[in-house]
Amino acid sequence: HTTLTDEALIAIDTLAGRLTGFGKPSLRLGVTGLSRAGKTVFISALVHNLIHGGRLPLFDAAKSGRLTKAFLEHQPDDAVPRFQYEDHVAALLSDRIWPESTRAISELRLTIEFESASGWRRTFAPGRLSLDIVDYPGEWLLDLPLLGKDYEEFSKDSFDLAALDVRADLSDAWLREAGAVDPTAEADEMTARRLAETFTAYLRACKADHRALSTLPPGRFLMPGDLEGSPALTFAPLPGLAGAKPRHGSLHAMMQRRYEAYKTHVVKPFFREHITRLDRQIVLIDAMQALNAGPGAVADLERALTEILACFRPGSTNFVSGLFSRRIDRILVAATKADQIHHESHDRLQAIVRRLAERAVQRADLTGAKVDVLAMAAIRATREGTVKQRGETLPVIIGTPLKGETIGGETFDGETETAIFPGDLPRRPDSIFKDDAEKTAIRFVRFRPPRLERTADGLTLSLPHIRLDRALQFLIGDALA
Ligand code: GDP
Repeated sequence: HTTLTDEALIAIDTLAGRLTGFGKPSLRLGVTGLSRAGKTVFISALVHNLIHGGRLPLFDAAKSGRLTKAFLEHQPDDAVPRFQYEDHVAALLSDRIWPESTRAISELRLTIEFESASGWRRTFAPGRLSLDIVDYPGEWLLDLPLLGKDYEEFSKDSFDLAALDVRADLSDAWLREAGAVDPTAEADEMTARRLAETFTAYLRACKADHRALSTLPPGRFLMPGDLEGSPALTFAPLPGLAGAKPRHGSLHAMMQRRYEAYKTHVVKPFFREHITRLDRQIVLIDAMQALNAGPGAVADLERALTEILACFRPGSTNFVSGLFSRRIDRILVAATKADQIHHESHDRLQAIVRRLAERAVQRADLTGAKVDVLAMAAIRATREGTVKQRGETLPVIIGTPLKGETIGGETFDGETETAIFPGDLPRRPDSIFKDDAEKTAIRFVRFRPPRLERTADGLTLSLPHIRLDRALQFLIGDALA
């Protein structure tokens, strides 16, 4: 599967990256997670808080007043779209609506000036760090295992997964369609397209809100980026291929060729040009949505997380050899949107994330990288309060539910502040995998973004958050020491 050229290219890229790092320190931070996990919101909040002097007491450089200023600069990679920070912040602040989510890779360079904590270093020059933030869909990472699989294995694995209980009813239509074609028949564009469409529809259905299943490869089927409608995406698994050699001109041969082209022209360049150059990585997960959907969705999320983390393992495949993972030395797995539950449950959420990440980290064998987990909210859309109900005092969260959200028969108009009792997360993290009595009844509602709040100096306004500063400290704190 590996070619000398790929290895050599990575080596050259990696070396070049290190060399340009000299003199002008730069750090590449990857931000990923499956769609709707909170990547766009996380990056917007991080940059806004650094530029506008947000309240960041758990971030050393900010706490000790050593941050001089932070500003946006031209990014180093001309071929990568820029992260649309200004549009996202305008949506959040002017309209109080959530920004448009990540659909493809994008990048932003934030330069941070600071005073070094050590007097010795301070006497030479003020510190300056260029932080290159790379936003990309987690779905694309899930393609890495494809590099180690031929088309026949990919097909078999897809059918095996489609047969799982949680997926069976969703995959039904595609399975019937696939069952009706003959892989040895003459290749036919319309058949290929129909199969690709029903296969994609099945993948989409898995992702739909009430199911909250994570996805299967190929990642571009759900997040095509600029490949929308391209022939590279017009293939699908075929049944009953075990041991079969494709006959020239057959449907099997055509699908196999497209699958290989997808690996060569889509998957490999993505890893080579982007993933192998990262220094730090945050993986965002929407744990709450999976918890809400039940144990099937939780197990699925754990599986996706394992596969995502495995991409950062040293020498995880022949293709991406140890060269790159020696670079990624810190990985943070974070459940964002913790503002949807009361702070009394934050530690429970963190314990759940730890539980989810534990096995994933073990299986991914991330020796050499520091891994941490966190429950956070990049943007805090709620405040806390209590209400008395039948003599009981209940902890509630208060915010403006999005227009159209419903709870107990009530539908919200998007303007009215409301107190909601979100329920408790389970005390024992293990119970999230089981359908037992402690199964949670969290009622979470999506809220509108908040108004700005005043920072400690009382003058500047910043976006409120929960533990965003802890994330910053773990991800870049050491570079500002
Ligand atoms: P992406 O697909 O990973 O880029 O996801 P987004 O950043 O666009 O987030 C998806 C949705 O999750 C947003 O539109 C918000 O509704 C919600 N969300 C993301 N982050 C937060 C957060 O910190 N707090 C709250 N309350 N909601 C969030």
